[in-house]
Amino acid sequence: RKREQAKLKNQTTESADGKHFDINANIGSPKDLDSVIESGAEGIGLFRTEFLFIDSDHLPTEDEQFSAYKAALQAVDGKPVTIRTMDIGGDKQLSYWKLPKEDNPFLGYRAIRISLKQDDIFRTQLRALLRASVYGNLWIMFPMIATLPEFRQAKKIYEEEKDKLLSKGTKIADDIKLGIMVEIPASAVLADKFAKEVDFFSIGTNDLIQYTMAADRGNDSVSYLYQPYNPAILRLVHNVIDAAHKENKVVAMCGEMAGDPVAVPVLVGLGLDEFSMSASSVLPTRSLIKHLKFSDMKKLAIESLDKDTNQEVIDLVKNSIK
Ligand code: PEP
Ligand code: MG
Repeated sequence: RKREQAKLKNQTTESADGKHFDINANIGSPKDLDSVIESGAEGIGLFRTEFLFIDSDHLPTEDEQFSAYKAALQAVDGKPVTIRTMDIGGDKQLSYWKLPKEDNPFLGYRAIRISLKQDDIFRTQLRALLRASVYGNLWIMFPMIATLPEFRQAKKIYEEEKDKLLSKGTKIADDIKLGIMVEIPASAVLADKFAKEVDFFSIGTNDLIQYTMAADRGNDSVSYLYQPYNPAILRLVHNVIDAAHKENKVVAMCGEMAGDPVAVPVLVGLGLDEFSMSASSVLPTRSLIKHLKFSDMKKLAIESLDKDTNQEVIDLVKNSIK
């Protein structure tokens, strides 16, 4: 099996009946870049920028960030790199920057909410990204977007920083993509509206499941409710993919579910364009997809949307994929 997978390293990913899918890798720090290059991934689907803030004793400067983004873009040699703006807050606290203590940090002041309020920090990050863009194929995404005005405001700030840099003569790539993470149920439900304005979606199932099921993703007492295959989750994912495709926009998934062998057949059937996962899952997932027929998975996906429970979907997939 391992040998078969090694052969897949330099291949693209097609289903048994020839439909193409992209498989990318997630990274949480520059240390992960080597394993991404080794993994056979077709790009980086999620670059978590929190490490720049967490592994530091000060707010990362524009130049520090620029170096990290440039390194990632150059490392993959023109392949797409999706960099997420900072997702600090929630459970991620910093010693040098005290955020207010909250009763419900996962429902509180975090990610894009901080970026839009303390926009000096956001603008620094955007300038670093814009300057790095000439070194590769940059996609930028905003985490925890709940409403359209949040996306519009983030985009406006991005455009302002871009114009300022351009007027100073700084070179910026002209094909940067701007997207959102779909990880809050409100944006999954309103995906048709978002699809008209964003360049791409990336579904963050780690949070989407937690918020849809109202079950803390790290709390063992409610982990039985953390149900990736619950038809409620699958219907949200289905809605996002359909809405995006009506506007010819790309849909990726960068939560754990994208590399989960039970979920992958259903996601293939729903027509997800890009799967982004930990580097070690890339080849097993490519191998799995090569054995699946898209036409069969479409039927499987439709059936799974009509199931009653998480367990029924698991049983359906296990009985269909031998
Ligand atoms: C997610 O929420 O699915 C995700 C990929 O982001 P994180 O795990 O960093 O919250
Ligand atoms: Mg998330």
